[in-house]
Amino acid sequence: MHQPGRHFLQLPGPSNTPLAVLAAIAMPTIDHRGPEFQKLGREVLARIRPVFGTANPVIIYPASGTGAWEAALVNTLKPGDEVLMYRTGWFATLWHKMATKLGLKAGIIESDWRTGAEASAIEARLREDKGHAIKAVCVVHNETSTGCVTDIAAVRRAIDAAGHPALLMADTISGLGSLEYKHDEWGVDVSIAGSQKGLMLPPGLSFNAVSDKALAVSKTGGSPRSYWDWAEMLASNATGFFPTTPATNMLQGLKVALDLLEAEGMSNVFARHDRAAEATRRAVRHWGLETVCTRPSDHSSVLTAVFVPEGHSADGLRKIILENFNMSLGSGLGMLADKVFRIGHLGDFHDLMVTGTLSGVEMGMAAAGIPHRAGGVTAAMHYLQGNRGPLLAAAE
Ligand SMILES: *Cc1c(COP(=O)(O)O)cnc(C)c1O
Repeated sequence: MHQPGRHFLQLPGPSNTPLAVLAAIAMPTIDHRGPEFQKLGREVLARIRPVFGTANPVIIYPASGTGAWEAALVNTLKPGDEVLMYRTGWFATLWHKMATKLGLKAGIIESDWRTGAEASAIEARLREDKGHAIKAVCVVHNETSTGCVTDIAAVRRAIDAAGHPALLMADTISGLGSLEYKHDEWGVDVSIAGSQKGLMLPPGLSFNAVSDKALAVSKTGGSPRSYWDWAEMLASNATGFFPTTPATNMLQGLKVALDLLEAEGMSNVFARHDRAAEATRRAVRHWGLETVCTRPSDHSSVLTAVFVPEGHSADGLRKIILENFNMSLGSGLGMLADKVFRIGHLGDFHDLMVTGTLSGVEMGMAAAGIPHRAGGVTAAMHYLQGNRGPLLAAAE
C-alpha cells in the first residue's frame, strides 16, 4: 500500500542518503578505463584517507561490509592461525563465525553484550599467550546490535602493554563518518568500513585501511585469495584505476559524500551525532525504558538500542510504527530478537528528524500498549533547545 510522505529510514544503517549523493549516483556511468575515471579514482582514494585518519592506502571494494571483513582476514591470516575476538554483540558473533569458516582458530572473549570490549580482558588473554600464537586481535568499534562503543586506542595500549605482536583489526563499519576514528594514531592495522552507515551512501562499497605492518604481513602471508587481494588493488590504485570494474556510480556518490562531510567539518559531524544520541537517551530515560548499553562511557552516538518491557514485543512495536507512521527502526539481533528495537541517529539527519523519529516511537508505544511515561519527545526537545548545534551557535 502506498504511504504518503517521506519514509523515515531510522535504521542504524543503511542510513538516509542525501539528495546530492543520490543525484551523483544517478549520473551516467563513465568509462572506468578512461581519463575522467582516473581523475575520480585518484581523488576518492586520496580523500577517503583522512576520514580514517590515515596517511596509508585505503582499499575500496564493490561489496557490503562483510566483504571487507573477509578481505581483512584473508590478506593477513592463513588457515590454522589463531585470532582473538570479543563477543560484544551480534556483529562480533558474525565476524567470529566467518573467521571459523575461513579455517582460523578463532578464540572469543564472552560478554553480556551490554558494554564495549574490555581492554584489560584482552591484555590478560594476550599475556597468557607466551608463545605468541595469536596473530590478530579483532574487535568491533561500534557494535551496531547493542549501541556500545569499544575504545580502540585502549585495545592497542593493551596489546602493547602485553608486549604482544598481534595485529589489531577494527570493524568500524557503523562507526566511520559518525564517530571519531584515528587509524594511524590508534595503531590499528586493518580498519574495516562500509558505505551505508556514516558515509551516507547506499550499501555497496566497503573499505580496508591498512597499516605498513599489515601490508608487510600480507606480502609474505595470508590465505589463498584472488578477488580480495590487496596487492592487485594497490598496484592498480596507484594510477587511479581498479583491477576489475569498480562500482563507478557509487564512487561518484562517494566523492559528493566526502564533499558534504568536509563542508560540515568532521568535528561538527561528530558533535551532531553526539547531540542526537543524548537527546534520544533522554527520551528513553523519560519513557522509563532501558538502553542495552549500561556503561555511560560506552554509549554509541550512532544508534540507541532500547529494551521493551518484559512481556512485550519489540517486533510488534516496529510493525505498528511502520504501518502507522511509515518509519523503519532496527530490530533486535541474535539473543536480543524481539526484546529490543534500535533507533538509528546517524548520517544525514537534523534535529527535526531526531524529534520526528522519537515522536514515531512514542506514538507507536501508545498504540502498542507499551507502558511508558509520556513526554519523552519533550525531554529530547528541551535538551536540543539548550544545546544548539555548532552552526546555530555560530550564527547567534
Ligand atoms: C552493518 C554492519 C556489518 C555488516 O555489514 P554488511 O554491509 O551488512 O555486510 C558488520 N559490522 C557492523 C558493526 C555493522 O554495523
